[in-house]
Amino acid sequence: MSGEQWTPERDARLRELVERDGLNFGEAAKVLGITKNAALGRAGRIKLVSPRAIGALDNTATIFERLDTVSIFPPVGRCVFPNGHPGTEGFAFCGERVDAGRVYCAEHHRRTHQGTWTAAAE
Ligand SMILES: [Zn+2]
Repeated sequence: MSGEQWTPERDARLRELVERDGLNFGEAAKVLGITKNAALGRAGRIKLVSPRAIGALDNTATIFERLDTVSIFPPVGRCVFPNGHPGTEGFAFCGERVDAGRVYCAEHHRRTHQGTWTAAAE
């Protein structure tokens, strides 16, 4: 036993610190009074990803896999194509209306299905 108890409240607090307040896991761990490794380990278990880390990725598929764990998505029915890098200033989703069942507007659907596009090229 590690002695570290993860309750839903504690999970929520960790999520809040990282996603809303933009702390990295080391900083969030300090606030919670735990080690960075403990925070990272728990993050992996609850699929929590720092928006800062997302900005370092250049693979669109990976970004969206991770983004579905963060709370910066536009409302359902709006294009989630990222303009800029998530976690950086000026970042925003496209936000155009999309057809039911789609995540991108027509323009961005076409662009993301060409296969060669990456966020880094934007
Ligand atoms: Zn779009």
